[in-house]
Amino acid sequence: MTPPLSEHAIRPKDTAAEQQRRYLADLDRLLARRGEFVAVACPACGAQETTRAFEKHTLAYERCTGCGTVYITPRPPPAVLADYYTHSLNYAYWNEVIFPASEAVRRERIFKPRVERVLELCARYQVEQGTLVEVGAGFGTFLEELGRAQRFTRRIGIEPTPPLAATCRQRGLTVIEAPIEQAAIDGGANVVASFEVIEHIFHPADFVAACARLLVPGGLLVLTCPNILGFDITVLGPGSPAIDFEHLNYFHPRSLALLLDRHGFAVVETSTPGKLDADIVRNRVLDGSFALEDPFLRRVLLDEWAALGEPFQRFLSDNGMSSNMWIVARKQATKR
Ligand SMILES: [Zn+2]
Repeated sequence: MTPPLSEHAIRPKDTAAEQQRRYLADLDRLLARRGEFVAVACPACGAQETTRAFEKHTLAYERCTGCGTVYITPRPPPAVLADYYTHSLNYAYWNEVIFPASEAVRRERIFKPRVERVLELCARYQVEQGTLVEVGAGFGTFLEELGRAQRFTRRIGIEPTPPLAATCRQRGLTVIEAPIEQAAIDGGANVVASFEVIEHIFHPADFVAACARLLVPGGLLVLTCPNILGFDITVLGPGSPAIDFEHLNYFHPRSLALLLDRHGFAVVETSTPGKLDADIVRNRVLDGSFALEDPFLRRVLLDEWAALGEPFQRFLSDNGMSSNMWIVARKQATKR
């Protein structure tokens, strides 16, 4: 039997110190340009009114009083973000060390299930398997696996980060090395998929509009991102690894649906299939970085972990309570 997916399998512990050093150097570099940060309205519903959710790394995380989305404001504008990602020490390390070291596990445990899930969605919603575009193709692992499954006649990655785009090309993948706003797909896409990207985007509404432009009418948009209402984020608050200065937007299934609805999409399903919430909280308790007082959770996550850990995680996933969410929407045939 395959063991349940664990946090340390995809975030190797022996690289943690170097990664942390680079992460903090990147943060310093970003905060040095704080004078250029701009205040924004809620990325989901556009409202202005907020309460402070928390602070982390001296950045303000505000919660929209209208829809409950949490977001960093003021935030780095697009030009600062582009410079940040191009020169990120942490991303270079990921590219050279962490991803190659953990890709085999990631491929089996994250990318293959991702491909299966996308193909299931295509079958369920009867989407033609002509062209699939992945926005933020990264190392190209998803597109490679999709190719191995011999599905979709055209598989195209959009990847604006030069070294990642180069990796995709080395793997024989078709890649557009540009931001999505500048990308064009001949004949349109049947599916646009983007995994763990929208939380990084300065203006998610523009991103969603760009996804809509790439799709044929009736085409499917598949997005994944953190769920602010999920277990590890709720329990750990700013101590959750999902709360990261690179993550500017923290939607939940209903708030992201609001945004998609405003851009001509009909949401067909949301889910939270995340598998790591319980393990993430447990690891923070075991390493002493989080004091868990709740006796019920102590029983589940520590005393009876072997028996209860997996069914507890399944309960979270099945009930919209995991911190990783998927949302699937169809581009409406006519603009409203
Ligand atoms: Zn809102």
